Amino acid sequence: MKRFDVMVSGAGCVGRSLALALARQGLSIALLPGKVAAPVGEDVRAYALNAASVALLQALKVWDAMPADAATPVYDMHIEGDRPGAQLDFSSWQQGVRELAWIVDAAALEAELATAVRFAPHIQIVDQPVPAALQALCEGKASQTRASLGVEFKNQAYGHTAIAARLVADRPHLGCARQWFRSPDVLALLPFNRPAPEQSFGLVWSMPEDRVPELLQASPEAFEAELNAATGGAAGALRLASERTAWPLSLARAEKFTGPGWALLGDAAHVVHPLAGQGLNLGLADVAALSRVLAEREGWRDLGDERLLRRYERERLAPTWAMGQMTDGLLRLFASDQAPLRELRNRGLTLVNTLTPLKRWLTARALEG
Ligand SMILES: Cc1cc2nc3c(=O)[nH]c(=O)nc-3n(C[C@H](O)[C@H](O)[C@H](O)COP(=O)(O)OP(=O)(O)OC[C@H]3O[C@@H](n4cnc5c(N)ncnc54)[C@H](O)[C@@H]3O)c2cc1C
Repeated sequence: MKRFDVMVSGAGCVGRSLALALARQGLSIALLPGKVAAPVGEDVRAYALNAASVALLQALKVWDAMPADAATPVYDMHIEGDRPGAQLDFSSWQQGVRELAWIVDAAALEAELATAVRFAPHIQIVDQPVPAALQALCEGKASQTRASLGVEFKNQAYGHTAIAARLVADRPHLGCARQWFRSPDVLALLPFNRPAPEQSFGLVWSMPEDRVPELLQASPEAFEAELNAATGGAAGALRLASERTAWPLSLARAEKFTGPGWALLGDAAHVVHPLAGQGLNLGLADVAALSRVLAEREGWRDLGDERLLRRYERERLAPTWAMGQMTDGLLRLFASDQAPLRELRNRGLTLVNTLTPLKRWLTARALEG
């Protein structure tokens, strides 16, 4: 049987991006999509992607091939605490960047990556594991191959679930993303151009899981009433434009990202709460890092050389850990009902809002991934 350079296991956004990136180096790639689960409906999520992710997708010739209305730039971001006046604002103009992020249709991105893979030279789709110098595991958080390698995956369920949906507002979004930290739930409205140009939002509303069934089963009118009460009309009157889907949330991390002949990437290595919209950004940063490490390897080194792969691991351990801690810390700070903590977090938001250098630093970190 042919021995490939790399077998990429898992054909989500991270797996397909990695296959494309490595094929561009001339490596022979086997892409193992695994069992395709029966679709449970359309993926109505909209991803917030940072500049580094967009640059990677551009280099892979995926970004420019996406339909124009599948990606919407974010120029402003408005965050509110749970006390009147506690707020934090970011603007692309103030930060000296063209846009703060892009909101991307999850299904459109998956479809464009799938098309690019189909036409890429050096990538062969396989239906079972094949011999390869390196196994790149991009199987998502429930990766079985990771488990079979005996790698511990510390998974801490939040007991929170995110409801995702598409919305249409009665006025333009003006490229402004909005987020409410409303103990104990976190609600984000991501400006979007589908289905209504300039007036749509992607909703990510995370809350304790016991509240979710009631909101999923509520009539559209009753759900919209709850939503409009939560957002206070700040983004206009909102109505549902899709089904509602539920995503259980957790903080999870593999004890190590590499071993002899294998590497973990994306959600197979680390899972963070979506409140900062960074999970896929971290996964795409993994792709960029592993591709670079492999491209820069000494000529005599095998692709599966553990010492080589450790360079990738060293580069990705700290930023993925920091993002997990940051999102976890924010969630805990805003989930607490204790009066001193509530005071502290609301004052914190207001204070950060006045510190331009700190805001610039935070924006730069978010743009880099
Ligand atoms: C509500 C919500 C909102 C989010 N919003 C954002 C956001 O705004 N910005 C952002 O950056 N991130 C966001 N994320 C995070 C993002 O969705 C994930 O980080 C990202 O999808 C992970 O991609 P992945 O390719 O690593 O894993 P997955 O998308 O889970 O893909 C893994 C693939 O591997 C396949 N597979 C599984 N087992 C095997 C096997 N044994 N063999 C072969 N294949 C296998 C699966 O079928 C699947 O196709 C959000 C997450 C949620 C839940």
